[in-house]
Amino acid sequence: MPPVEDIDVHEKVKIGLDFRYGCHSSRNPKKSDGYYALDRIYRENGTFYIENVFIPHTNTTKCRSFALWDTDPACAGCESPRDLEYEQRCLALR
Ligand SMILES: [Zn+2]
Repeated sequence: MPPVEDIDVHEKVKIGLDFRYGCHSSRNPKKSDGYYALDRIYRENGTFYIENVFIPHTNTTKCRSFALWDTDPACAGCESPRDLEYEQRCLALR
């Protein structure tokens, strides 16, 4: 098997110093509990109709960067509550 060629990271996928994890944007007070989207509702004969359905947000809004809370620049200034329960679950896997 030939050796893997090492190439530079493309400009568009480089992460800058101003990059922050998603936990930084989870404190938006205007954020709703979910959103509406069109969905197909199927009848028994295989046909369907379109209906608006509510899709609740289920992703955590807590910070999960527990291994790097104090050293990771992408978590600097993060004020989201830390997901300590998740941390314990991950540490138990070690
Ligand atoms: Zn964070």
